[in-house]
Amino acid sequence: MSKYTNEVAEALLERVDIVDLVGRYVELKRTGRNHKGLCPFHNEKTPSFVVTEEKHRYHCFGCGAGGDAIAFYMAMENLDFIDAVEALAERYGLDLDRYKVQNSAQEQESAILKKALYQVNREAAIFYLRKLKEDSAAQAYLNKRGIEPLTARRFGLGFAPDAWQALTDYMEPKQHPLLLQVGLVDRRKNGNGYYDKFRNRLIFPIQDQRQNIIGFGGRAIGDDMPKYLNSPESVIFSKGTAFYGILQAKEALGKLRSVIVVEGYMDVIMLHQAGITNAVATLGTALTEAHARVLDRYVDEVTLCFDGDEAGRKAALRGVGILKAMKAKLRVLTLPVGQDPDDFVRKNGAEAFQKMVQEADPATTFLIQAAKHKYNLNTPNEKLEYLKNVAMIIRGLDSEVEKSYYIDYVAKDQSYDSNAIYREVYGFSKARPQFEAKKQIEKVAIDPTQYNAIFELEKKILEIALRNKSAFDLICTDVDLDQLENSEVKDLIKRLELYYRVYDTVGHDEIVEMFDLDTAIRLDQMARNSIVGENLAREAMVTRIHYKLAKLDAQIAELRAEREKLEQPSANALSVSEVSHLKLVLIRKEMELKKMKTEAVKERDSLRGGTSIG
Ligand SMILES: [Zn+2]
Repeated sequence: MSKYTNEVAEALLERVDIVDLVGRYVELKRTGRNHKGLCPFHNEKTPSFVVTEEKHRYHCFGCGAGGDAIAFYMAMENLDFIDAVEALAERYGLDLDRYKVQNSAQEQESAILKKALYQVNREAAIFYLRKLKEDSAAQAYLNKRGIEPLTARRFGLGFAPDAWQALTDYMEPKQHPLLLQVGLVDRRKNGNGYYDKFRNRLIFPIQDQRQNIIGFGGRAIGDDMPKYLNSPESVIFSKGTAFYGILQAKEALGKLRSVIVVEGYMDVIMLHQAGITNAVATLGTALTEAHARVLDRYVDEVTLCFDGDEAGRKAALRGVGILKAMKAKLRVLTLPVGQDPDDFVRKNGAEAFQKMVQEADPATTFLIQAAKHKYNLNTPNEKLEYLKNVAMIIRGLDSEVEKSYYIDYVAKDQSYDSNAIYREVYGFSKARPQFEAKKQIEKVAIDPTQYNAIFELEKKILEIALRNKSAFDLICTDVDLDQLENSEVKDLIKRLELYYRVYDTVGHDEIVEMFDLDTAIRLDQMARNSIVGENLAREAMVTRIHYKLAKLDAQIAELRAEREKLEQPSANALSVSEVSHLKLVLIRKEMELKKMKTEAVKERDSLRGGTSIG
């Protein structure tokens, strides 16, 4: 449950003077209705960072950073939402008590219990820490694993002695029930007293972002099984949201906006020791959606790191499936079979590891490659199945441009006709074998994917048009701007048309001047999300023709639906001759459209340089 009601952000934003707040970090100059300065989120020499008092927002036209005062403060001070709200409320004099969620007696009780459990974990951690200093076998083990004393201290490593009651005896008897609750001890079978759960193990305290110790991991130093033992879930420890190393990684995550997710305690520790301090690990569990939300708060890019064996690939597939709802960009790093990051970085060094991270596959590439393992691509049937599977993956992508990129990627990878994959992805009936096409005509209804395709293509038209005036002219020849279906795109592109009557290139200052900051920001975000390549002219032509085809398909489908309606006798009060006359008109119109389509297909195929298959 949140600590404050939903109104708190609004109340705070009204009170915070964003120009004053940002002005504490950035030198701002007034430009018209807005303020401008050098962006604190990226290096620049000419200011493209705009703050608007009116809208209580900031936006950088250089790197795309933007948001309200709370978001700005969170980013600058590396705070989470609640901490930022509290600090800003204090600075700008907002009384937070009014917005506090009233706690029930039960909630207050649970807050007190949690505090006591954190405390008992802290005392246990101190005990383990002392024991590590005293025990030579444990020290020797650290040496053998290559953990330096500074690293051990940074992660608060400890040692649980090889004894049944070392921790139990160290703590006061009144704390024993609390130790039981966090799973550090268990009740003796005969019912009298407790015994230590962690024995003869190297201890990894698990901390949350606020420095609370929420649980422990223990690695056997001898041959005890299991090799790794974790605290059980408790009131303060949930494996589905926790990351090992998040506290130590917090600063790097804020700076780099990127995280490497590994599988084990030792992986995190050795990566940090090697200077790769944006690594965290899940705690022996699969990734969850709650994990994804935590990561989304910190970073824009997530690299999942897995062993290259079958188990690793399966875990990566699961992880990608769970994390795909994230805003952050997702990539998968597959290590050589049988190696974990700990081994790898010790053998090959930090630089080699960083290089692999940089070259890690985007999640979609990984999924397309991983799907290959299910099929024998040497047989034509299985290859087709594989391509259908891949088309499904591509169909699920949000961006039209990404779809187009992966269609070409698969076509190249499999030496296959990209047109065929294109049609599989979009499900156009013309791509299907004849008998199937017939079935589709019978149950004709306008396929929603056609409208999606039209919407996406219109976005791409705008993305291309945003480059400069000649790109705009190129893409918008033949396109009737009034006929655009996506009303947001229509609005923006018509504004852009006005703009290009005056200017030849896109300058944010000029757009702000001519329209308003909101429009400028929307256009900037649009251009930023675009991955339109360098070959603008070709892309413009390809997009234009795809758009034309998609529109024609939709029109043809509409005509067919109309004709269907005519055939239902109850639906109209027309005479037989009127119906047949109307039908004839519709058929003629349809034939006309089909002719246009045939020409468009020809044009598209000549652009793609491929041949069409049925
Ligand atoms: Zn910037």
